[in-house]
Amino acid sequence: MSKVRVRYAPSPTGHLHIGGARTALFNYLFAKHYDGDFIFRLEDTDLERNIPNGEASQLENLEWLGIIPDESPLKPGDYGPYRQTERLDIYQKYADELVAQGLAYECYCSTDELDESRKRQEANGQHSFRYERTCLNLSDEQKEQYKKEGRKPSIRFKVDQDKVYEWDDIVRGKISVIGKDISDWVIIKSNGIATYNFGVAIDDALMKISHVFRGEEHISNTPKQIMIYDALNFIAPEFGHLTLIVNEERKKLSKRDETIMQFISQYKEDGYLPEALFNFFALLGWSPNIEEEIFTKEEIIAMFDEKRLSKSSSMFDKKKLHWLDNHYIKESSLERIKEMCLVYLNENYPLNEKDDEWIDAIIELYKPQLNYCKEIVELVKPYFEEYNLTEEDINFLKEQNSLELLKVMSEEFNKMESFDSITIKETINVIGKALSLKGKQLFMPIRLAISCKRSGGDLSTVIELYGKEQAIENIQKTIGLLNEN
Ligand code: GLU
Repeated sequence: MSKVRVRYAPSPTGHLHIGGARTALFNYLFAKHYDGDFIFRLEDTDLERNIPNGEASQLENLEWLGIIPDESPLKPGDYGPYRQTERLDIYQKYADELVAQGLAYECYCSTDELDESRKRQEANGQHSFRYERTCLNLSDEQKEQYKKEGRKPSIRFKVDQDKVYEWDDIVRGKISVIGKDISDWVIIKSNGIATYNFGVAIDDALMKISHVFRGEEHISNTPKQIMIYDALNFIAPEFGHLTLIVNEERKKLSKRDETIMQFISQYKEDGYLPEALFNFFALLGWSPNIEEEIFTKEEIIAMFDEKRLSKSSSMFDKKKLHWLDNHYIKESSLERIKEMCLVYLNENYPLNEKDDEWIDAIIELYKPQLNYCKEIVELVKPYFEEYNLTEEDINFLKEQNSLELLKVMSEEFNKMESFDSITIKETINVIGKALSLKGKQLFMPIRLAISCKRSGGDLSTVIELYGKEQAIENIQKTIGLLNEN
């Protein structure tokens, strides 16, 4: 195989989407598996739809995921420029060549004329519009006349109606389309800007792209691109069209789907770990030859095999993402997770009231439970909330006859000199034995009375984090409520 060169070519019309990230990742994995290059190129010719900062945001989010381009607008290699808007003269040159060879022609039809023709075809029961080749054989005089009228020509590719356009798709096998199913299409618009199908083929050829992995929505574009390679005597890359990502209801993922966060920046903002997303996306439409699911970047690159790209759609399984992220959080150092969690804690709570030891203990306690770092906010909420036992909780404590337990608890806590989790645990055990209580009957009332929650991290650590004074105060409040009614 000649040098593998693949590319991810987003339009800067939005931020990095999960579908785009997956496409970029599969291209990257393929490149790195075969010691090739991964190129980031920008398809920015749709000027009105480009968003400010679109390019930078696409690149930053990719790099955050660990998908690092070998060439990009910011890191040009030998094949630049890497933005299509900087390559317009290149496209024009090739379009002129095609016109000179009679493989493309100028079209002076106005939008209104094309609309009329479309309506006529619809009225005749023809659903997909075909250009009627009105301008295929214009004389020089006619062209001059049109120009005088102020018309600006677009350039159309003359599709060989009898030719079969065929490729052996890496994911789907043989696909072929007959020329007569494709009408003469515009390669350069009347404003002088190349269309996607023309620009992309020229770019892929000149940048020596060897393989193209992209979403299946591009299958219908591929024959048009193959026409351009053929007409210009370029060698076409190999194509692999990835199957859809679907949600848990098996519906195609759409940007409006609110059941799934759509943009990589949202995962970053919520404190997911990039290596978890890297691992997760790699398994979204690809699987290795072994049962396991947790892999480092290097392992995935080593195992990547394009023959194992899925032929059916892949479900975005949020639970699996949480499981993976939780795994990587547990594996990470306390320092790293603390730094990430502190951002959320500082935004939400008066942390200056707490010392560093307290914060370390909180992170250590809840780190194993986090599906993503922002969850820390909910988990530590009880420590900052006003005491708020519900009616239901009070009734529960009454049913459990917890009054005696809480009284003893408060007295024993009062006597304690060192209020650390180990001593707290011993104290609870001693009380349990004395009152013949164990398990849920012992722990749940204590937890409720102090934290007003029925679950949480390790009980004695939770109590230590409340501190002696607060723990006793809350138990006293609970006793008061139980006595009250
Ligand atoms: N700009 C196109 C897209 O975002 C790229 C298509 C391609 O890879 O050829 O879908």
